[in-house]
Amino acid sequence: MKKGLLIIYSGPSGVGKGTVRSKLFEYPELNLEYSISMTTRSIRPGEIDGKDYFFVSQERFDEAIRNDELLEHASFVNHSYGTPKSYVEKLRNEGKNVVLEIEVNGSMQVMEKCKDAISIFILPPSLEELENRIRHRGTEEEKSIQGRLEKARIEVGYASKYTKAFINDDVDKCAKEIRDFLYELINK
Ligand code: 5GP
Repeated sequence: MKKGLLIIYSGPSGVGKGTVRSKLFEYPELNLEYSISMTTRSIRPGEIDGKDYFFVSQERFDEAIRNDELLEHASFVNHSYGTPKSYVEKLRNEGKNVVLEIEVNGSMQVMEKCKDAISIFILPPSLEELENRIRHRGTEEEKSIQGRLEKARIEVGYASKYTKAFINDDVDKCAKEIRDFLYELINK
């Protein structure tokens, strides 16, 4: 069986990554599987432990690093995030195309380690639009909003390091463009 692709999927906070990703997962021909990350941040309303993330203590996270359980890890606005390695490998060996929805520092680590990884960056139509989206999401406190905005400005500068960047000015259009891009790679 052909090993599945490793797909790095990034974009600044508030760009609509999650919404575009949900649309991508509606295309069965892409045979996508989501890599569930480990994080030390607290759970948000509506999130499910073991589905959205594995929500863990800092001690457990540090242990995972020590045991070399993570493919990559990074800190984002005062919290730790990381990709469990064995799960990703298992899925790829089953032929699944695995999506890592991760921030830029972790992405750079994966690009360095896995030269065959495909990387996709989602851009907002503008930084003003991004700020509106982050503010209106209403899930963060002001301090976290400021941190996320600051980080978003830095992250946008990384777009050129990815295989391809897509602008999310319309969710369906953006998802369709990514679908076509991935479909070609999958069937190569
Ligand atoms: P959020 O707290 O909004 O769920 O995620 C914050 C940022 O961390 C997002 O850019 C998200 O893609 C990223 N992220 C989620 N999981 C991981 C991970 O395992 N590793 C890295 N490096 N970033 C992650």
